[in-house]
Amino acid sequence: MSLGCAKNLVDSEKLMKQLERDNVSIHFDPSDSAHYDAFIINTCGFIGDAKQESIDHILRLIEVKKSGRIDKLFVMGCLSQRYKTQLGEELPEVDGFYGVNEMEEIVKAAGGDYKSSLLGERHQTTPPHYAYLKIAEGCDRSCSFCAIPSIRGNHISRPRMEIIEEARHLAASGVKELLIISQDTTYYGIDLNGHRQLPALIADLEKIDGIEWIRIHYTYPLGFPQELLSQMNESPKVCNYIDIPLQHISDRILKSMKRGLTGKKTRTLIEKIRLAIPGIAIRTTFIVGYPGETRKEFEELRQFIQESRFERVGVFTYSPEEDTSAYELMDDVPESEKQRRAGELMAIQEQISLELNLAKVGQQLKIIIDREEGEFWIGRTESDSPEIDNEVLVRKNRKKIKPGTFQTVLITEATSFDLYGEIITS
Ligand code: SF4
Repeated sequence: MSLGCAKNLVDSEKLMKQLERDNVSIHFDPSDSAHYDAFIINTCGFIGDAKQESIDHILRLIEVKKSGRIDKLFVMGCLSQRYKTQLGEELPEVDGFYGVNEMEEIVKAAGGDYKSSLLGERHQTTPPHYAYLKIAEGCDRSCSFCAIPSIRGNHISRPRMEIIEEARHLAASGVKELLIISQDTTYYGIDLNGHRQLPALIADLEKIDGIEWIRIHYTYPLGFPQELLSQMNESPKVCNYIDIPLQHISDRILKSMKRGLTGKKTRTLIEKIRLAIPGIAIRTTFIVGYPGETRKEFEELRQFIQESRFERVGVFTYSPEEDTSAYELMDDVPESEKQRRAGELMAIQEQISLELNLAKVGQQLKIIIDREEGEFWIGRTESDSPEIDNEVLVRKNRKKIKPGTFQTVLITEATSFDLYGEIITS
């Protein structure tokens, strides 16, 4: 079972690949009713809610183990990395806790034999036509609210050839859409030769036959590589889509968050991105209820979101985390007020999303079909990343189409977070 982010999922896929070779049958997202020789849960330890979800699953699985349906229970990932000793003392029923860099150890514990020859190979769990490509691990930044550097360590870029090899494997197995992920994607390469190498890496990935869409996630606003914008604009394969968490807009809060840039610089960057790539879809995330966030500062953020009309927005409520510098600050915004502020921003975004979607009615858009659901084919435009963004619902007709194919669709209807359409050509 794999919890948390896509970076965790890639780790799980690599572990499953290692294990599947030793006559081990792998069950991803297993049911509770079957019997398992080993059950591995890859946990998330990022913020309060995610930690609670991981712990709840572990406690549930301990009960399943007590019922005799699991022989060995292993816990890995960020929660385990962060609280290994404590968890080990409190949960003796678990047969082993493993951190984020202990792939060999957990393969052995689960009865397998680690093979470095399988580097870059994965037991893909996403639909065959898209896959996440993790290009680095860890982070060199010190955002005050974030525990990831203390969990995943400093930024380590993967060697370019290793990434290309993995992407080739994925393309050979039918992947058409690559989702580039890491903690700090625009930082890629700096630790290798002091230079940002994301544009060069993307130029290599574009050459791989079969890959048609390349989507960039987790870029960082400070030192954003301008050359990436012109590359994205010219590239037939890089989606007109960028994921760039901004977190806030108030100068005082951005400073306290140690984000390294001001509200003014943030606005300038967003203007530059929109100017460089007309029609780009910008995904971003914000934190509300950060220590000391006044109504005036929240109002500034509310107005920024109202004016910027981002295509995709996620809002988190501040969660005090040990091992972060913000942990020392007074968490003085009441939880109910944090929730109220998050709700207010999402209501604004829902209206913006509806207006942006309504403007697409009558347009013909290229989509990739992800799956079939009842009387609909479900797909995404290049402005939508899987599982987090909008979807296009295409009413089935006589035409036989397959998941993983690109289709041109006439948009006929829109809601806040979905579009409806008819297939034009196949
Ligand atoms: S960039 Fe900041 S928020 Fe993102 S992982 Fe690094 S420290 Fe955390």
